[in-house]
Parts: sequence; C-alpha cells; structure tokens
Amino acid sequence: MLCAVRRGILGGTFDPLHVVHLMAGEAARQLLDLDVVTYITAGDPYQKHGFPISEKEHRWNMTVLGIEGIGYFEADDREVKRSGPSYMIDTLESFDADEEIFLILGADAAVGLPTWHRWEDVVERTTVAVISRPGVAEEEVSATGAPYRWLDTPGIPISSTMLRARAESNRSIRFFVPDGVWQYVEEQKLYALP
Ligand code: ATP
Ligand code: MG
Repeated sequence: MLCAVRRGILGGTFDPLHVVHLMAGEAARQLLDLDVVTYITAGDPYQKHGFPISEKEHRWNMTVLGIEGIGYFEADDREVKRSGPSYMIDTLESFDADEEIFLILGADAAVGLPTWHRWEDVVERTTVAVISRPGVAEEEVSATGAPYRWLDTPGIPISSTMLRARAESNRSIRFFVPDGVWQYVEEQKLYALP
C-alpha cells in the first residue's frame, strides 16, 4: 500500500528568502519525518498591503535560487500565478486531499493565524507546526486556541525586514541568505536605494 505524502508547506513573502527559512524547513522535515517541504511564494501577501514589497517575480526567483540543490525542498509558484489575495486555504485546497499537510509557521505567523481567511478550515486541513521566533513567547501561540505542534528549534533573530534594511544601508547580507539569493540581490541591485 502506498503511504500518503507527508508534505510541509512553508509560505512566505521571501523578500528575500533567508537562512532561517531553510533551517525551519529542515527542522520540520526531520522532526516531522516529511517527504518534501514546499516553499510557496505569496503572490499577493494581502496582509502586507501598504508596505513596500518587491515584485513577485523577484521574490519567486529568490525562492527558486534559495532552495536550489536541496532534493527534498521544492519551490511552488501556484500563488504567484493565481490572481487576487493569496489565501492559504485556496492553496491548501489545491493539493490532493489524501496528502498529509504540515503547515510550517514561525511563531509570529502562528500568533496571527486567527486573522487569516477561513483560518478554522486551515487548521482543520493541516497540522500546524510552529518554529520559535525571538520576541514571541509560546504562550502567545497557545492563546490563539488553535492546535499546533511546537518544534524545538533555536530562536534566530533574522528577518527579511532586517536584511532589506542592511542592504539599503550598504551592509552585506552575504551568508544571511543562500548564495544564489545573495548573487541575485547584488546583480539586480534589488534593495539598493536610488
Ligand atoms: P518580513 O520581515 O518581510 O516579514 P520574514 O523574515 O518574517 O520577513 P516571511 O517571508 O514573512 O519572512 O516569513 C515566512 C515564514 O517564515 C513565516 O512563517 C515566518 O514566521 C517564518 N520566519 C521568518 N523568519 C523567521 C525567524 N527568524 N524565526 C522563525 N520563523 C521565521
Ligand atoms: Mg514576516
């Protein structure tokens, strides 16, 4: 009998994709015995409206480059290709119903889960797996009332926001991001101020 695919989903804006995104996927893969971790670039991260965000093509390219060469990671462009706000529930419903899906979230994202479109259905369809993030206590996650699994990982204080700020002020982001992403940011002058 074939066993159902155990898939981790790690969605993000990935502006840029950084090493903690990779570490989170790796921790989830090992601790949850996943077959694959699917990195899904948000086409329209509607909760970030009003904030400056790089074009989705750039963010998608950085997702592809960032996971390149890692056999059990894949980049998925279904949200980039879809129009309208990127709702996770639409994404989840586009995967085969027999797959076992683990939704990998940083603790900040987990705290915000109840603000998501049809979040009860998201929780129903998946096992939520939470990676610790500095500044967010596990109690804040449990206070949402949503069931989750806490993955024991070290909190690492790196964010894309911090890396954009570094790049804008000409401080290197090399080694904070996978090499391919670093080269892409350099070539495209993605975060260089005009
Ligand atoms: P931004 O600062 O632009 O919001 P980010 O670093 O939070 O960027 P996102 O693309 O927003 O990255 O996040 C994608 C997912 O990765 C989210 O679930 C987020 O919580 C998680 N994540 C990102 N950085 C960390 C981190 N340092 N520790 C734990 N989780 C993280
Ligand atoms: Mg974020």
